[in-house]
Amino acid sequence: MITIKGLKKSFDQLEVLKGLDLEIDKGKVVVIIGPSGSGKTTFLRCLNVLETPTEGKISIGGQKIDFSAKVSPKSISSFRRLTGMVFQGYNLFPHMTALENVMEGPVTVKKETKDKARQKAEFFLEKVGLSDKMDFYPFQLSGGQQQRVGIARALAMEPEVMLFDEPTSALDPELVGEVLKVMKDLANEGMTMVVVTHEMRFAQEAADEVIFMDGGVIVERGAPASIFTNPTADRTKQFLRMIQ
Ligand code: ADP
Repeated sequence: MITIKGLKKSFDQLEVLKGLDLEIDKGKVVVIIGPSGSGKTTFLRCLNVLETPTEGKISIGGQKIDFSAKVSPKSISSFRRLTGMVFQGYNLFPHMTALENVMEGPVTVKKETKDKARQKAEFFLEKVGLSDKMDFYPFQLSGGQQQRVGIARALAMEPEVMLFDEPTSALDPELVGEVLKVMKDLANEGMTMVVVTHEMRFAQEAADEVIFMDGGVIVERGAPASIFTNPTADRTKQFLRMIQ
């Protein structure tokens, strides 16, 4: 489903991703962990082409981009649609209701009719447990509810892969569970997911594979049971000791 080869990203002199290679099968849930500043967010943003990689190839669901050559804005926007991104800070439009937020992408980007987009938005808002909040504005919703709107909004674009960038980090602890539950339901339905999170329990319970990143490289990857109980790299051991 996803193949990444030699992915590099620099900001000026700073090389943040130093050549990542990775394959992710359809329907798998991959959780990325690692210290702050190790390049996890940049990696997700490269998959969504919110950042343009400096070098490397990405293929998702049969569509390929080679960033070593010049890439047209058109191919970036069609590639971007393959992935749906859920942000730490929700990024909802404050002047639109939950329903309007979810309809926005299908109407403006996919040029769907308002009727069709509304039906779809209702379907996805129901899926994340918000059928009674469709006409609420973001300020009338809790952080957990706003994030569930964020998930519904990404799903409404019907991406091949869902990307989650620390989706629960901004939430009060009592609201984390409702968002993780929606994510687990999605995983159980077979959605391919790449999740950057500090929620180790989610990683243990929902991940097919855990990737430990440090210093812009993949240090170690494996099943959650093996990474958490039997890490091989010193850096992974040190990180896991620090967060436990
Ligand atoms: P993580 O998600 O693992 O905390 P990030 O991908 O956010 O790491 O950041 C990795 C490094 O890249 C950090 O040193 C950060 O300061 C730098 N960085 C991220 N985005 C930018 C940017 N837009 N411009 C310059 N430096 C950036």
